[in-house]
Amino acid sequence: MNLDLDLTDVRVLVVGDIDGVRPVQRRYAAAGARTSFRDPDGALSLLGSQHAPDVVVWVGERDAAHRALAARARSRGILVVVEPRPLPGGRVTLIGGGPGRADLITVAGRDALRQADVVLYDRLGPGDDLDLLAPGAQLVDVGKTPGHHAVPQHEINRMLVTHARAGRRVVRLKGGDPFVFGRGGEEVMACRDASVPVTVVPGISSAIAVPAVAGIPVTHREVSRTFTVISGHVPFGEDELAHLVGLGGTIVVLMGVANLPAMAAGLLRHGMSPAMPLGIVESGFRDAQRTTVADLGAVTEVLTRVRPRSPAVIVIGEVVRALGPETWKDVASSYMEADSAASPRS
Ligand code: SAH
Repeated sequence: MNLDLDLTDVRVLVVGDIDGVRPVQRRYAAAGARTSFRDPDGALSLLGSQHAPDVVVWVGERDAAHRALAARARSRGILVVVEPRPLPGGRVTLIGGGPGRADLITVAGRDALRQADVVLYDRLGPGDDLDLLAPGAQLVDVGKTPGHHAVPQHEINRMLVTHARAGRRVVRLKGGDPFVFGRGGEEVMACRDASVPVTVVPGISSAIAVPAVAGIPVTHREVSRTFTVISGHVPFGEDELAHLVGLGGTIVVLMGVANLPAMAAGLLRHGMSPAMPLGIVESGFRDAQRTTVADLGAVTEVLTRVRPRSPAVIVIGEVVRALGPETWKDVASSYMEADSAASPRS
């Protein structure tokens, strides 16, 4: 059950075994409910008394005890909600948070967040909505420390393991997909090395989604049948540049704003046409989303005029112009308008 509900002062009785109900109870309390806990026998007698709750939350299987309780609740007009029993023991789940909007996390990702005791998150995921998505969890921003430095990777690995060993369900929420330039592999290995159970929930990568919301398909029939996703963080070598140009498909660059002049010069040096279209999509899925389209040969002039800023996804290839400027506008604005029209919090 998704608790986008205001449960202020609603009396909620959580029923189950003590270890299983703790996180469930915390979640209802976070939604404002006045929660209490009983085992199934205790709950049955409470329902017959004048201290009956407004809502019963049954944590576990729909067994004979559940049926007895549900029948008594029904006879008194009390709502019964059934929730699965959370898995016991600490564990880590890496979740791909998508490109920055809460509605672009997978259903599996949302389920894991809802059950989390601790969430370690950073800058590019859907951080603003976390108090709703993970109402029972302690939220830890590992993108910034009080001194504004990112928490170092080895320290994040240590935190994941320590929380899980304390029996907590730990979510590591990452922007996009955890295994696309996200150091997710290192975090999985750290858990494995510490014998902490770990699972991965994939996410929608900005490499595909950010061009898409700007109206740029990374492949298009008879235009491009490959797309290569690269990190622009460290400049490419001559061999790599030659291979990229040789492939003749779409190139998608993440973390590439700072090194774009060097990247463009390198591609031109290896024979890419100066007329090759290049699209820079800044702040995808946010109000500040902006798309700039130019010829590769004019990139220096464009950078001086536009001054694009990170985060941005850069697309180099004929696909940039495949759908045309009107479509870019339509695709971008229809998504943003749909967002403001449908308020998920109402
Ligand atoms: N794991 C992530 C990528 C992490 S690298 C994923 O799969 O999306 C971080 C880079 O992703 C940024 O520098 C930028 O190039 C890109 N990026 C992520 N979110 C973005 C957004 N909303 N708009 C534009 N670029 C974004």
